[in-house]
Amino acid sequence: MFHINDNFEKLPGSYLFAEVARRVKAYQAAHPEADIIRLGIGDVTQPLVPAVVTAMHQAVEEMGHQETFRGYGPDFGYDFLVNAIREGDYAARGVEVAYDEVFISDGAKCDVGNIQELFSPDAVIAVTDPVYPVYVDSNAMAGRAGDYGSDRWSRLCYLPCNAENGFVPAVPDREVDVIYLCYPNNPTGTVLTREQLKVFVDWAREHHAIIIYDAAYRAYITTPGIPLSIYEVEGAREVAIECNSFSKTAGFTGTRCAYTVIPHEVCGLNSQGGKVSLNALWKRRMATKFNGVSYPVQRGAAAVYTPEGQAQIKAVIASYMENARIIRDSLSVQGFTVFGGVDAPYIWLKVPQGMTSWDFFDLLLDKCHIVGTPGSGFGPSGEGYFRLTAFNTLELTRKAMARISQAQW
Ligand code: PLP
Repeated sequence: MFHINDNFEKLPGSYLFAEVARRVKAYQAAHPEADIIRLGIGDVTQPLVPAVVTAMHQAVEEMGHQETFRGYGPDFGYDFLVNAIREGDYAARGVEVAYDEVFISDGAKCDVGNIQELFSPDAVIAVTDPVYPVYVDSNAMAGRAGDYGSDRWSRLCYLPCNAENGFVPAVPDREVDVIYLCYPNNPTGTVLTREQLKVFVDWAREHHAIIIYDAAYRAYITTPGIPLSIYEVEGAREVAIECNSFSKTAGFTGTRCAYTVIPHEVCGLNSQGGKVSLNALWKRRMATKFNGVSYPVQRGAAAVYTPEGQAQIKAVIASYMENARIIRDSLSVQGFTVFGGVDAPYIWLKVPQGMTSWDFFDLLLDKCHIVGTPGSGFGPSGEGYFRLTAFNTLELTRKAMARISQAQW
């Protein structure tokens, strides 16, 4: 019999959202009358904006005519989308990104999960803690995380982010090869200033490490001066790969489009000690394993950068951020300590003294019929915290907060 990749069996069994779903199902079965509101979802709820829908309709129409039909697209994305991204997301903020440094894909999850294929099997990985689980699990599947015991992996370098350090991670206290950063952060909803980010860029340059920067929530930044891209920080082009997504920016969670930027300067060493461009390796990888994103979807994504598209997506994002404000304000009035929710659609709250994140999950479900996500599911430093999201409708967000206000805490 052939052998499987044993690393898959090392992954902890009960995945966070599966456990959440199990508890909600059990509660609903025991309390059929409970009208449960979900503030745990990381998915958007508002439809695609009209500019995107129109562009996609037109593209589908083109695909139905001989003269305008298109078969396989370019491996790394159509010119019209690559150039719209370079202009709209970078040049407009004073950042130059070359045409062949942008790779269109079908998701930031796939990109942040697949990028580790470029690293050596024994590369040492650092992650902020709590963390978006994909960075950890994708490296665990490749055997780089070591073994999982109680609440952590033996070979990962965890960079705790908590109220005590203001959710600003310290740089690694040992040599690491790769650092995953996500800002605005999922799950904490916090951001780093340019100066705080520069500390990481400088560290990576000095220690010949690479940063994988996940900017999937960049469109939610409202505070002036907070960098939307790591390339706004001097020196980042040498050490950073940036992943972005249309999922949360433009409601593409079910439509699928994202992109990753790999500057030519980003290099690693091969086993002979020669310098190799990661851009070249990713090109090779994508050309081999990826078929590109469909033409209509890329047309829809490009429409996000038109003046109408921009106005429309900004209105949707503003509505989610209004939900975030409502959640923050209501919880604060009730005496909860809250973080995030200003530059991100996530609110990270401290659970009442003496409770675990899962205790609070059960309490909130029972007292208010509200579902959130226990912080401990995102890593050891998430224990004692809880995540609520601003992605539900205004009506249900208000209703949920009214329930919290009326409860005895
Ligand atoms: N990165 C972070 C930090 C996320 O929270 C998510 C989705 O929740 C993603 C990436 C996934 O993005 P995509 O839908 O483009 O795969």
